[in-house]
Amino acid sequence: MSLRWRIALWYAALLVVALSAISGTIAWRLQSILYDEAKYSTNATMRNIVQSAQQSSPFSLEDPDAGTLEFLFNSNNLANWSSPTSYVQVDSAGGYPLAKTANLGSARIPPNTTLDGKHPDAFRRITIDGAPFLVEDRLISEDANSAVIHVAQPLDLIYRVFAQATQTIVVVLIAGAIAVTLLSFAIATQAITPINELSDAMRRFRFDRLDTRLRPSGRSDEIGRLADSFNDLLARLEEAFARERRFISDASHELKTPLTSMNANAQLLLRWGENDPAVRRESLETIARESASLAEMVNGMLTLAKADRGDAIPKEPVALAQLASEVVRAAASRAAEKGLHLSFEHAATPTVLGDPALLRQLVGNLVDNAIKFSERGEVTVRVGALPTLAWLEVTDSGPGIPSEELAHIFDRFYRADKARSRDVPGTGLGLAIVRSIARVHGGEVAVAAGAAGGACFRVTLPLLDALTEPS
Ligand code: ADP
Repeated sequence: MSLRWRIALWYAALLVVALSAISGTIAWRLQSILYDEAKYSTNATMRNIVQSAQQSSPFSLEDPDAGTLEFLFNSNNLANWSSPTSYVQVDSAGGYPLAKTANLGSARIPPNTTLDGKHPDAFRRITIDGAPFLVEDRLISEDANSAVIHVAQPLDLIYRVFAQATQTIVVVLIAGAIAVTLLSFAIATQAITPINELSDAMRRFRFDRLDTRLRPSGRSDEIGRLADSFNDLLARLEEAFARERRFISDASHELKTPLTSMNANAQLLLRWGENDPAVRRESLETIARESASLAEMVNGMLTLAKADRGDAIPKEPVALAQLASEVVRAAASRAAEKGLHLSFEHAATPTVLGDPALLRQLVGNLVDNAIKFSERGEVTVRVGALPTLAWLEVTDSGPGIPSEELAHIFDRFYRADKARSRDVPGTGLGLAIVRSIARVHGGEVAVAAGAAGGACFRVTLPLLDALTEPS
């Protein structure tokens, strides 16, 4: 059974149970109120009769011997209490009817055998000629004689009222149940349609159609938020897949260039290598250069993959200033070859939590770029600390980064045209690796113009103390 029907039927069942309980209680209360009312008026008649009978004996001037019982045994005395809702009959002690109101006709109220001196009064429900009656019986004793007064009141009106009320309640209940079932089915349909659309859209979802989106629901409720979340998820998936596709196509393109060159040179070697030493040397040099570039690129891709894994990287406390000074020392000869002045300064000795090999690569890439792109002047590496952050700056006196390239230099495989045309070696992965490593350590990298007109790359990383101290 569909969820819609289940919701609708559950609602209807709950409504029927709740309404039945309420209307059952009301009907029961109504009946007992009407019944109490009948009892009250019967009892009032009974009290009147008894009172009149008792008062009759001392004041009866016509018949000085007449007592209470004599008054009761005369049907004429009872006529006062005869009405369409009041029937009176007086029986002898043996249960024989001695007097009764005319409205009883030939009918007779049966005797009540349960009365005695201890229980002289009782109410009971009986049927007389098929009609329901409420009867009050009262045992009256006088001078060793006794009589029983019966006051009866028809109950058919009460029963009719009750039957009609019950009938109305049942009709309203059935109509209400049907209405609620249909209404809750309609509401459930309205609520569930977006869920169905959602599941249809999920079923239709294909990895080659990541641009699929749910129709904007325009709703701000849970369903609307679910649809929006699903659309967000799709957008992020699409972005991630596009990034992966771009990476694969860039990587294949970048790997193809050195491979093609290596292949061409291998062909040259095969054809003329044996006879022409100049060709042999040139080809071997090219193959060596291209294979080194390939190895560098593959290493870069492996580092990126490692940095992308995020939490899986084992981290330990790293003294950033010491690590940076080691990297500077290792690069000193390369800087000297180009006549550059490479220096290291530190205003603090901050400790960060990280992977030393990755952090060394981060500093190394920045220093390598600074040396690579600067023709003269100096490259300075500085380390310092702020209250919660460690910072590292690499400033050079190269050409700097043109503003139109700022948005791209951290992209994977991005190389400025200038870098390519000037034949500066590189893979276009260096800065992407720097950014990935910085981010996986909870930090960031930014670039600005250096004071000397070159570029100034600044990396910030959270201090170990800031990570461990409760904030
Ligand atoms: P690669 O250095 O292999 O070209 P990177 O990702 O390290 O790749 O750098 C991307 C681009 O950013 C470079 O091609 C270059 O145009 C620019 N760039 C990086 N560092 C510097 C720098 N210190 N000075 C000027 N330009 C730079």
